[in-house]
Amino acid sequence: MKVKAEDLQGLKQLETFAGILYNSENFNNYVRAMQEINHRPRNYLLQLGTSNPFNPTFGKAVIFVSCNILSRGRGLPLVLPIDVEQLYLSMCRRWRFVCEVFSFNIAKSLKYCEIFDCEELEYLFCFSYTCSFCSSLQNLESVKLSVLSNLRFLWKETDTLLSDTLFRLRFVKISSCYSLKTLLTPEIVARLQSLEKLHVEYCDELKEIFSVEDKEQMGEELSGADQSLDNNSSDRTKLFLPKLVSLLLEQLPQLTNVCRGEMHCNSLQVFRIDVCPKLEELPRTVPWFQIDVTP
Ligand SMILES: [Zn+2]
Repeated sequence: MKVKAEDLQGLKQLETFAGILYNSENFNNYVRAMQEINHRPRNYLLQLGTSNPFNPTFGKAVIFVSCNILSRGRGLPLVLPIDVEQLYLSMCRRWRFVCEVFSFNIAKSLKYCEIFDCEELEYLFCFSYTCSFCSSLQNLESVKLSVLSNLRFLWKETDTLLSDTLFRLRFVKISSCYSLKTLLTPEIVARLQSLEKLHVEYCDELKEIFSVEDKEQMGEELSGADQSLDNNSSDRTKLFLPKLVSLLLEQLPQLTNVCRGEMHCNSLQVFRIDVCPKLEELPRTVPWFQIDVTP
């Protein structure tokens, strides 16, 4: 049953609420009322659009399904509850990136983000200083992505990549993102020091999981320059993921490299590679780890 914001505003003792709001205007009105009158339910599941494909856990969650009218700066920007912890998107087919319609929101409590079947999504977050949403994403722990046919990269890298984002990210699962070619660049990997589990499957174009700097190329760039930089910079030819416990790579038909440099993963317990027929060589792990490979 769809409800209107005005039907809910008198319910100030509401402890738990789950409902589908009537339209985006109603959704925004209800969230604003939650904030202004300060009677947020302790737990809520606010949904816009029907046919929810997700299975959210009990808590503070919002779900947007088929919100196409809000794309590309047109229509109403969406207001998020200030304490939202879980964000779900599905079939928002014209959105190019998530914060496109959330950029003025603060998302300090956001821990979980799941996106399914958003056709034009090119990347997730802009990580610009001018984006309040990205600037406040310090507590994001889990990202689950599936069937994003146009996704080119996970995070847009800018010269001014925000310094305190992604440091708490622990779980990443990526399925059926057919346009991804390289998953994680050195700048992003340097932030993933809390990453515990990475699972990637059915990404048809994916060639490389972790890119690292090319040592020879870096040497040329540094020759004649301040050689004191060399020690620090050479670390970028290695990969450090100290908390990584599980790495699963499955059904990646174009994968040629997991990582060209050394992978320093002291916590690794599971490393499985299934059906990646073009893989040229297994990555070098430090310490050495027996990789479970199925051709
Ligand atoms: Zn942003």
